Amino acid sequence: MTRDALANKIARRIRAEGPLSLAAYMAIALHDPELGYYATRRPLGGAGDFVTAPEISQLFGELIGLWCVVVWEQIGRPDPVIVAELGPGSGMLAGDLLRAAAAVPEFRRAMRLYLVEASPVLREEQRRRLAFAEPVWLNRVAELPAGPALIVGNEFLDALPIRQLVRGNSHWAERMVALDRADRLVFADGPENPALSLLAPEALRDPAEPGAVFELCPSALALGTVLGARLARDPGAVLLIDYGHSPSRLGASLRALSHHHPADPLASPGSADLSAHVDFAAFADAARAAGAEAYGPVPQGRFLDALDISARLAALSGRATPAQRRQLETGVERLLDPAQMGDLFKAVALVSPRLPTPIGFEPAGAPW
Ligand code: SAH
Repeated sequence: MTRDALANKIARRIRAEGPLSLAAYMAIALHDPELGYYATRRPLGGAGDFVTAPEISQLFGELIGLWCVVVWEQIGRPDPVIVAELGPGSGMLAGDLLRAAAAVPEFRRAMRLYLVEASPVLREEQRRRLAFAEPVWLNRVAELPAGPALIVGNEFLDALPIRQLVRGNSHWAERMVALDRADRLVFADGPENPALSLLAPEALRDPAEPGAVFELCPSALALGTVLGARLARDPGAVLLIDYGHSPSRLGASLRALSHHHPADPLASPGSADLSAHVDFAAFADAARAAGAEAYGPVPQGRFLDALDISARLAALSGRATPAQRRQLETGVERLLDPAQMGDLFKAVALVSPRLPTPIGFEPAGAPW
């Protein structure tokens, strides 16, 4: 069975090399080229493992398209302009973005669509939905060509592998994935090590009680650096929406989802989605250190309100059947309601230095 095949492959590696960091485990579970979660599955939607904002409401991608148009105007309407999506999933967001962009023909003509996508299964789905826009697929953000760019992504950062540090009696240790006597995958903490303590922010490091967990996401920090350096060089902006927090905080948030239900992250690698809360403060700091300006995070509800989602909903509802209208309203409610996605999900923007505050965000200096 596939599930056992990946668990066995991981077990072989642990026997040969010793326990894996959680980040190494996640990278294999999600991206093993033959057996990994994203290599083999269609994760999204009712039949998948989780549902995301673009799948819930077309207004989500449309408003992100509008955001791109406004920022494009602020950077002087460059032609051509790169519009890139990170982790486009089913391609729904990009499809909605393109439809909104078509309302501004100069923008639509200027834009070149790039999709940064690791999963061959999802690339195929994106191809079916978006072929008319002639997208270019890339494996990594760093492969994007130079030039003015608007880069967006929803639920991309939460899918990047994290490390977990655990506070011991004197120092911090790394939580590893090891094998127990019965050869099952288990979490096991490595040795306490003063050097690991330096990876946690100072404000959290010392007050932490034994057993406290700090998560860090090396690939998100590297992405912040790549994007920040790019924005310092070429005009543009980045908009990422995800679930998470700011400021940085303690707490284990790794979760596995299978068919919309929580699962054990080690039980059957490759068959459940693995994700973790995004530390927006750490991501924004990495981008700032590389030269970009960072805004937010703003709660998703507030961000979509600022983009006037209700006016757009009213316009669409006017043309809809009663059943469609109910569906549109329920979708928007789910995105905005603080008890559903409105508060946990947040938007962060990175922009080139000296650009105005991007629409939907508050001026720089607003508290993190
Ligand atoms: N944005 C979509 C999908 C979110 S799921 C939506 O909101 O519905 C995460 C997406 O990121 C998937 O498309 C997944 O294949 C992609 N992904 C995850 N890790 C990646 C990586 N390291 N490089 C490129 N794409 C990645």
